[in-house]
Amino acid sequence: LFHSVQLAPKDPIFGLTEAYVADQRADKVNLGVGVYYTDEGKIPLLQAVIKAEEALVAKHAPRGYIPMEGPSQYNLAVQTLLFGNDSSLIKDGRVVTAECIGGTGALRVGADFIKRLNLNAPAAISNPTWENHRGIFEAAGFDVVEYSYFDSKTRGVDFDGMVKSLESFPKNTTVVLHACCHNPTGADMTEAQWRQVIDICKSKELIPFLDMAYQGFADGIEQDGVAVRLFAQSGLSFFVSSSFSKSFSLYGERVGALSIVTESKDESARVMSQLKRVIRTNYSNPPTHGGAIATAVLTSPELRQLWEDELAQMRERIKSMREALVSKLAAAGAKQDFEFINAQRGMFSYSGLTPEQVERLQKEDGIYALSTGRICVAALNTKNIDKVATAIARVIA
Ligand code: PMP
Repeated sequence: LFHSVQLAPKDPIFGLTEAYVADQRADKVNLGVGVYYTDEGKIPLLQAVIKAEEALVAKHAPRGYIPMEGPSQYNLAVQTLLFGNDSSLIKDGRVVTAECIGGTGALRVGADFIKRLNLNAPAAISNPTWENHRGIFEAAGFDVVEYSYFDSKTRGVDFDGMVKSLESFPKNTTVVLHACCHNPTGADMTEAQWRQVIDICKSKELIPFLDMAYQGFADGIEQDGVAVRLFAQSGLSFFVSSSFSKSFSLYGERVGALSIVTESKDESARVMSQLKRVIRTNYSNPPTHGGAIATAVLTSPELRQLWEDELAQMRERIKSMREALVSKLAAAGAKQDFEFINAQRGMFSYSGLTPEQVERLQKEDGIYALSTGRICVAALNTKNIDKVATAIARVIA
């Protein structure tokens, strides 16, 4: 039966982590991950999460099935975070939200749902993007095309290229957009550029699908919601996948959501009924625990404040690591200007390191990064940053 089954290529990120774990060097550094670490090199368990979890466990609640779309309190909390407290879309019943298995699950449920609309149009992802975007949309049956996004000279957004690509796509193309903290480049659009993208989505009748995996990691919860808010004002129907993996440090609990903005309450009811069918045939209903923690934190003023403070600490620590890396690279003799690292946002930096340089870092120093040159700034800390800066300065010399 399995004679012709070929060995699948390793997932680039999880494969790299396996190599890192097997490395015997005591001072090895893993910058390949997409995870926030503390200055002690640990994945944090947030105090807000601990408090919510303790209260939850003390209840010893039974674990019955929850609705296919997840609990309504969770879904409302997600909507409020994405669209704001006073969102007229929420009030008018124009947002449909389903709790999903992480941001990945939300993307897949959304992709399956769009596929069932039989629009016969491709999905477009940014070049480059988080590698799973292509896999998810291909698995859902889409032809996947790319739009230009990154300018390797400025290390910012190649906006002209992006506009040209978007304008070339056929009607009903699903366009996957990183709402903030672009993975892998860290390069985000300005508000004015977002407005232009919205105009193109309107005139070309494209389907916007905003992927929001890092809300709160660039400038703040509200500030990072700007793209979602602009789309909300646009009158367009659109999709948002969101995730609490990073912002709550709840990676393994798989807590995310898919939100769909429709034209009316009536449309919402029909969309939700179809969404439930997609969920039912995939995994029936989401798990209870992670969503219950997020709901408890988001709906308690005290825990919410604690969470916002902890999220701000994570954000500030990443920023301070960006600044330290730039100055330490210069101090280590790097000729190149690395100021772009400070301008990039979120967990990652597209460092400009070549595959050969990345390989040397791994072999010679036990520093692991993606061959594309993506490094996770959130994995740098006050103990490993000198070693990393010195090693990078050496391999680029
Ligand atoms: N989208 C992007 C852009 C991501 O970087 C990630 C996580 N690396 C996800 C979605 C998926 O998040 P989750 O772990 O919640 O499935």
